[in-house]
Amino acid sequence: MMNHQTKRIYLSPPHIGNLEMKYVREAFQNNWIAPVGPHITLFEQELAAYTGSKGAVAISSGTAGIHLALRAIGVQAGDSVFCSSFTFVASANPILYQGASPVFIDSDPATWNMSPKALERALIEADQEGKLPKAVIVVHLYGQNADMERIGRLCTQYNVPIIEDAAESLGTTYKGHASGTYGHFGIYSFNGNKIITTSNGGMIVSDDLEALEKIRKWSTQAKEKANHYQHTEVGYNYRMSNILAGIGRGQLRVLDQRVKARRKIFETYQKELSHLDAISFMPVATYGEPTHWLSCFTIKPEHTQATPDQFINEFENHNIETRRLWKPMHLQPLYRQYLYYSHTENKSVSDELFKQGICLPSGSNLSAKDQKRIIKMINQFFSIH
Ligand SMILES: *Cc1c(COP(=O)(O)O)cnc(C)c1O
Repeated sequence: MMNHQTKRIYLSPPHIGNLEMKYVREAFQNNWIAPVGPHITLFEQELAAYTGSKGAVAISSGTAGIHLALRAIGVQAGDSVFCSSFTFVASANPILYQGASPVFIDSDPATWNMSPKALERALIEADQEGKLPKAVIVVHLYGQNADMERIGRLCTQYNVPIIEDAAESLGTTYKGHASGTYGHFGIYSFNGNKIITTSNGGMIVSDDLEALEKIRKWSTQAKEKANHYQHTEVGYNYRMSNILAGIGRGQLRVLDQRVKARRKIFETYQKELSHLDAISFMPVATYGEPTHWLSCFTIKPEHTQATPDQFINEFENHNIETRRLWKPMHLQPLYRQYLYYSHTENKSVSDELFKQGICLPSGSNLSAKDQKRIIKMINQFFSIH
């Protein structure tokens, strides 16, 4: 029963402001249609200032950013890298690009992000076997920061650098600091469904300016300074284009408005659905301010037999896009062979989240009327399931 009358409500569509077109037009007028130009430098400076980082490098995607950060840390074939299991595959794939092996770490039920308990067990065992990881990739999901002080203490104790995958958490704060600025490197993504977008793109931030210089060089085919093409090490075509940086500059101006809108959407869902015993919203940690990039909840099996797939199909029939929560990496055929540390010896939190969880439409341009329609449908769904 597909309803063609109503316009589709997307999960997290782009939301363009007033300045993006002006910056893109400038790029056209000055013929800076290349992975070089003034918007790139300005976008880097403006994002570094926004996050309170010493420097930033604009690149073609968040995935490219994680890859370059791993290389800057010196991750090579045969090394191991710890990574959150409950995440999008882009967090882990760059580990394989470097020929290293991932070890996956479960989530904490209080934050849905990396479990410090599981991380501690993994570090103790790796240390005993003389196989400490070269890096830990900590992911901040759905606009909520991981518990960085607990994770950071453990990593400092074992002398392992942290890469923060902040693709989903630009605008989030942790104890007053911007998400992505706690570790050695932080990575943001500007792909089409992120809180701000350049259609495709990413940024690496760090206080290690020397490493950022190397990263900038690697992102443009590792050209040496010379009048001819001179290469001593391998590079990539990973630089952001000047046109997309123009879009990014416009988007950055409205980021705080986008954050406010997403928070309001979450609060409205939570308020209007608080009477439902069958669902439980993503917990909010007290140490920071989440953006609620996506509003997520889990279905409680003790209260209903409804499954996430039933829910998603029902909403699809009404032209509303909803999604399952991430399928953990340790359950993916690609990654099943690698080590995994669950939250406690006999409880895997991310397995449960995947089995029971749903993301709701959360775009900053979601109208109050459309959100009302979604809320009404959620009520209906759980009244009959
Ligand atoms: C979106 C996302 C990425 C990848 O970003 P791209 O810019 O699409 O390469 C990485 N990690 C997480 C958790 C993401 O959600």
